[in-house]
Amino acid sequence: MKKLVLLGSTGSIGTQTLDIIDAFSDEWKVIGLSANSNLDLLEKQARKYEPLYVVIMNERAKKELEDRLSDLKATILVGEEGLEFLAGETDADFVINALVGAVGLKPTIAALKAGRKIGLANKESMVIGGEIINKYFPERDILPIDSEHNAIFQILEGEKSSDVENIILTASGGPFRNYTLESLKKVTVEEALRHPVWNMGNKITIDSATLMNKGLELIEAHWLFNQPYDKIKVVIHPESIIHSMVEFVDGSIKAVLSTADMRLPIQHVLTFPERRQCKVKKLDLYEIAQLNFSKADYNKFTALKLAYQAGRAGGTMPVVLNSANEIAVSAFLKREITFLDITAIIEKVLNMHENIQDPLLEDIYEVDRWARSKTREVIGIANNN
Ligand code: MG
Repeated sequence: MKKLVLLGSTGSIGTQTLDIIDAFSDEWKVIGLSANSNLDLLEKQARKYEPLYVVIMNERAKKELEDRLSDLKATILVGEEGLEFLAGETDADFVINALVGAVGLKPTIAALKAGRKIGLANKESMVIGGEIINKYFPERDILPIDSEHNAIFQILEGEKSSDVENIILTASGGPFRNYTLESLKKVTVEEALRHPVWNMGNKITIDSATLMNKGLELIEAHWLFNQPYDKIKVVIHPESIIHSMVEFVDGSIKAVLSTADMRLPIQHVLTFPERRQCKVKKLDLYEIAQLNFSKADYNKFTALKLAYQAGRAGGTMPVVLNSANEIAVSAFLKREITFLDITAIIEKVLNMHENIQDPLLEDIYEVDRWARSKTREVIGIANNN
């Protein structure tokens, strides 16, 4: 039996991972689960999978979980230290990092230090830590779960990196693809949470509506596949059937197509390099009939422009982009700011930042803290006016 640690087990990717694991229950043993705050679901999962370790994010929840799981043998750990322990100090064969946000970087590093194979759904690990990860762990064994990067990974198998002309990231365009700038001003939280294709967690759904999700994925692709930003393009493809493409120097373009269902990339990394039958509905080309492509509007969706700028600037700029976005999105969800404020605020904070090139891990955490408090400050100022 292969041993699996699953970080972020109660989230969208986490629950879908367990759904896939159920189909391979004679091959995989879940030895560690972690959740942020969903105690009910975590308890249910712990009873079903009987892991050795369960991590919950705060002390108070730990006490309650200990009471609830007192009849099980699982050791209950807490917070970031618990996540790092799960990722690096258990004897897992595979660590799936499905955490949301910058909190995912430390466990990724812990898993890399321990030489673990990682299934990476936490894009922030590469967005804020990609430079460090590539520098200190050149032999890293990271299999991308993010659907676009999983597609690119599949496409590049057996290809030479120097033969790549362009990486073409596809974007659904989110729910506001055809909105005017004027109508974007009046967008509500409910409208932004209604994604046309993907069913995902709240944070990433808002990121898809602003196109910041694609911006973060652009930086993630840069570090995962070692390609310059000039060779990474974004194309709007509303059907989300093509998960991404690579154009090669001879003009050939390879694409990966499938039903938009995250369980497929999750299964791909779990079974790689083998392929197995998957419970995801197979694509019916006649049902789809046609696929559409259009240019992304950078004036309407400034998040993409900011992401290219932050990515090209390098250093700690992507950290600020990501941290400011996390705070701004959570303020939008709490109805403290408007939809267009999200990127306006991020841009302000980016402009205030003194970039640190060749950052150390400490710099990244320091800048992460700075950007969060600066963003809160900017939001506070905006609210007082
Ligand atoms: Mg994606």
